[in-house]
Amino acid sequence: MNYYSTNKKAPLASLEKAVVKGLAEDRGLYMPERIKPLPQSFFDSIQDLSFHQIAYTVADAFFGEDVEADSLRRIVEDTLSFPCPVVKVTDQIYSLELFHGPTLAFKDVGARFMARLLQYFNKEEKVNVLVATSGDTGSAVANGFLGVEGIHVYVLYPKGKVSPIQECQFTTLGQNITAIEVDGVFDDCQALVKNAFMDDELNAHMRLTSANSINVARFLPQSFYYFQAFAQMKKLGKADDLVMCVPSGNFGNICSALFGHAMGLPFKRFIAANNANDIFYNYLRTGVYEPKPSVQTLANAMDVGDPSNFARIYELYGKSHSRITKLISGATYSDEQIAKTMQECYGQTGYMLDPHGACGYQALEDLLQEGETGVFCETAHPAKFKEKVDRILGIDTPIPARLAEFMKGTKQSIPMSKDFSDFKKYLMEQ
Ligand SMILES: *Cc1c(COP(=O)(O)O)cnc(C)c1O
Repeated sequence: MNYYSTNKKAPLASLEKAVVKGLAEDRGLYMPERIKPLPQSFFDSIQDLSFHQIAYTVADAFFGEDVEADSLRRIVEDTLSFPCPVVKVTDQIYSLELFHGPTLAFKDVGARFMARLLQYFNKEEKVNVLVATSGDTGSAVANGFLGVEGIHVYVLYPKGKVSPIQECQFTTLGQNITAIEVDGVFDDCQALVKNAFMDDELNAHMRLTSANSINVARFLPQSFYYFQAFAQMKKLGKADDLVMCVPSGNFGNICSALFGHAMGLPFKRFIAANNANDIFYNYLRTGVYEPKPSVQTLANAMDVGDPSNFARIYELYGKSHSRITKLISGATYSDEQIAKTMQECYGQTGYMLDPHGACGYQALEDLLQEGETGVFCETAHPAKFKEKVDRILGIDTPIPARLAEFMKGTKQSIPMSKDFSDFKKYLMEQ
């Protein structure tokens, strides 16, 4: 299957090209040319299938033409080495827990799938992944690619500007992961990566690629767990009038749910829950998409002022505001409200929300109608934001074993200035 650019000014790309390049030549986002609906028989018996069987069926619809069946099955099974359970929080509200992977956030799914697909396409030459991070992306990508043969990952992060828990998740890994500690801010890290991709001499020296979240191999696999959430709700006899609520920043996660819907996944409607960065919320209200600088919030992985995947959602619904508002509603929450929600939910139900999941939970509290059942994505484990969660809930949040394991490791990083010539010199020596 080919992929086209949302900007429509770039040539069609094969899956391999779309995965290796990430972004189209015209700076647009790649979209699959066709979205294949899955047969009714699949949905009729979905509750009897395993997570791996469900995910493989979905993966086959997207990637089956381009990846050999046995390899695709192995990629799916390797990716989903952990469960994504649906947990009851109230009579009407369920949590789709996406934090059971290696770095305790949903980005593990996309990062692990992309690493394995890239390896599949890249059997000959060694490929180098450059990723700039302000925290969470670096850990998901580094861990997703950890130990994957033929690929080396360089994670660039701003010195002293990521939390100790985040930092240890990509500086203690060793093997094919190198952490580069840049004496600067996140924007400097991003500039170094961008300059590297544009430097001819460097690109002649080594094969470079990005693992940006807009990559089709990172965002499409996220649809797997939405199908499996439906299967779990069906098992509980709660599959009618289901509302899926996704805490959103760059809108990749909700976008994969919408692709699932386009394949026939019977969710009734969707809610995009935002923190104070309310660009999509305002678009729904006014029909005008107006990016603005992001503001810092408690749910910092959603601090996005110009969500990239809006272009995909816009394209999916033929740029029609009325089609979009018919299916998707929005909500926006201040830090004060997020903290209040975390306290109330914990007090009333005993369920510990992280600041991102709290936006999703609250949106269901506010927008669910009589007779509907809501599922929100709990996008990260609360312990990832331990300082905040402890302060808000007044408790000592237990740290899961696999997170504690990272903290025992020894930090290894390469100090780097924010000067591109230094970074280039370093890479030329590799
Ligand atoms: C990345 C992230 C989000 C936002 O997801 P998008 O796909 O960018 O909308 C929400 N919560 C957590 C914990 C994240 O890491």
